[in-house]
Amino acid sequence: MTELEQRGDRTPTPTAWEYASAPESREIVKLDERYGLFVGGEFVEPRSGEYYATINPATEEPLAELPQAGPEDVALAVRIAREAFANGWSAAAPVERAKYLYRIARILQERSREFAVLESLNGGKPIRESRDVDLPLAAAHFFYYAGWADKLEYAFPNRRPKPLGVAGQIIPWNFPLLMLAWKIAPALAAGNTVVLKPAETTPLTALLFCDVLRQAELPPGVVNIITGDGATGAALVKSDVDKIAFTGSTEVGKAIQRELAGTGKKLTLELGGKAANIIFDDCALDQAVEGIVNGIYFNQGHVCCAGSRLLVQESIYEPLIEKLKRRLTTLRVGDPLDKNTDLGAINSRQQLEKIEELVAAGTEEGAEIYQPPCRLPEKGYWFVPTVFTNVAQSYRIAQEEIFGPVLSVLTFRTPDEAVEKANNTPYGLSAGVWTEKGSRILWMAQRLEAGVIWANTYNRFDPASPFGGYKESGFGREGGRHGLEPYLDFAETSGG
Ligand code: NDP
Repeated sequence: MTELEQRGDRTPTPTAWEYASAPESREIVKLDERYGLFVGGEFVEPRSGEYYATINPATEEPLAELPQAGPEDVALAVRIAREAFANGWSAAAPVERAKYLYRIARILQERSREFAVLESLNGGKPIRESRDVDLPLAAAHFFYYAGWADKLEYAFPNRRPKPLGVAGQIIPWNFPLLMLAWKIAPALAAGNTVVLKPAETTPLTALLFCDVLRQAELPPGVVNIITGDGATGAALVKSDVDKIAFTGSTEVGKAIQRELAGTGKKLTLELGGKAANIIFDDCALDQAVEGIVNGIYFNQGHVCCAGSRLLVQESIYEPLIEKLKRRLTTLRVGDPLDKNTDLGAINSRQQLEKIEELVAAGTEEGAEIYQPPCRLPEKGYWFVPTVFTNVAQSYRIAQEEIFGPVLSVLTFRTPDEAVEKANNTPYGLSAGVWTEKGSRILWMAQRLEAGVIWANTYNRFDPASPFGGYKESGFGREGGRHGLEPYLDFAETSGG
């Protein structure tokens, strides 16, 4: 174990509480040494013949081997999905589709511990989060869209909704199962079939989900899951699908948009963010501190809507920063399977290097760094929760998405200035406002360029609530009735 030194200031450390470790057993998870591609309801060997290993980022231990799907594999999965669409699924009674979605939701609930442990093993996130957030929300999305499956005519009155066909879906590594649920549940409710590619580093819960599909007796070919890296994603974008739904980096989102321009294929993009979490001097300070911590350190900051820019009203800057630093000293970083852990492992070496590079840039540009004393395991990928103060708007740490446990603090005097600074970013995904005045919340919400604005809370999700961005954070909405629309075509009627 290495001890990191406290840097920068003399914030007192509260009396250290030693927690006995409380590890969740990983016995419940049974992994195969090698997996196939899930196509047509069974695992098949890749025609590419290539495999790669996925690891546990907390220990660097290999967990399983996965196929690297090539263009031929992608084409096969899309063809099978198209056959499943034509041979029954698109014509099935909507109530039948609802039945399968309910079954999937219930099985996810029944097997939630197994999924939560696997999510933490493969992705590095604390078990407390995968158990209490990812799994309940994933099941809730299937329940929610099961409810819509036979009510599309009511969701879109006078518009005669029709499914599109085959949806190609590409998801990232930060919420593997939850992003799968966000994508698959509305696509199936709307009557489409699916080919989904999970992220290269976190494919295992998607593969376990194939077992759920079989348990639910979903007709073969309705959902196909193919593993691989960015090249597999690119092949899926080029393939014969009717729609692409992508969540990931703005850079790849732009490349996909260029590729699809003029093809007539539908596209939704949920990309990066650099959210402002705005703290007014009349807020409940201790609650705000919890909201700030949840906003940026939840899932090690690997969250597109993370509150990574803290805007603090000048009059409360000092007491707030002191409380925040003190709170940081109580965060426990370590084994993701320990139920006491607040921050788990960084998802990959590549992501760790990106965080380290941006943190070095922050220091070089002149910001002041604070990291609490913290013991980090020797193996695996870790980063200490970090706060930067003295940050100028032009610094890279105030402009670029770090996607790690790193907070950049700026100040403001007036609500107008807060709005101007909050909107000074190419992104527009989310924002937080902390104030006791309801009128100010509404005033701010009208002016902030963000798809989601939380008031006196942060990182709250509900399947009934649409989520998505503006500007370089993408377009299209996931969740709610709005989340069905990108999976439907409409034959508009004249009214009535
Ligand atoms: P990517 O955008 O590369 O990955 C997202 C998904 O797209 C993955 O499944 C990835 O596959 C796939 N992909 C990669 N290249 C292509 C391509 N050319 N065509 C189609 N699909 C492709 O994100 P990274 O994992 O590289 O992360 C980089 C940065 O992106 C992060 O540091 C973070 O800032 C941001 N990010 C934002 C997310 C969000 O939710 N908004 C989520 C993840 C990252 P594979 O994993 O196999 O490479």
